[in-house]
Amino acid sequence: MVVPTKKKDGQALDAKLHPDLVDIQQSHSQIQIELKYTTSANFLGEKLYSKIDKAYLQKDVAARLARVQKALQQTHPGYQLLIYDALRPVTVQQKMWDALDSLRPVERAKFVSNPKNLSLHNMGAALDLTILDAKGNPLDMGAGFDDIRHIAYPIYEDSFLRTGQLTPLQVQNRKLLRSAMQAQGFRQLPTEWWHYNACSREEAKSKYKVFYTENDIFTTPTSN
Ligand SMILES: [Zn+2]
Repeated sequence: MVVPTKKKDGQALDAKLHPDLVDIQQSHSQIQIELKYTTSANFLGEKLYSKIDKAYLQKDVAARLARVQKALQQTHPGYQLLIYDALRPVTVQQKMWDALDSLRPVERAKFVSNPKNLSLHNMGAALDLTILDAKGNPLDMGAGFDDIRHIAYPIYEDSFLRTGQLTPLQVQNRKLLRSAMQAQGFRQLPTEWWHYNACSREEAKSKYKVFYTENDIFTTPTSN
């Protein structure tokens, strides 16, 4: 039985949400969220969001994600997308970048975009996600979310499959997510199986507003 998500407590915030953005779960009620930076259960061991408690995307990006969910449940009844992170302000990006200062610059940039260059997360045009099976369990992807080891890199899947460090099922699960997302034009990051961009960085910069702080997300700018 499908129980619709109630939105009661979110309405005050939604009323002030920036007009470019939408709550993903309002685009498609079957999409689930487990935002990793709203608690301390993440690679920084620190709660990074104080106001964000929903996954927000640009409206056109959310509409594409809703089509991914629709197509997925047609081929795999009961399967649901699970969102780990979506819109992430630049200030939070900066905190993550600073926390990884022990990594070599080239390794660091594979994991968190340099805030100076911006990430598509900062515009609500990227998201981190996995798939839940019909029992509500995340599919086995062979590496967890925010795992910075090479085993999380989609570009090395074939070699890890050959050495047996990834099983055929784990690779198949990643490919299910990838084909579902790519069918709606999302682009996989070569170093994170969970990260998808809605478009190129250049296109995003020309089309979308950058959100620097959590306040930018919830305050409608006055016209000037
Ligand atoms: Zn990401």
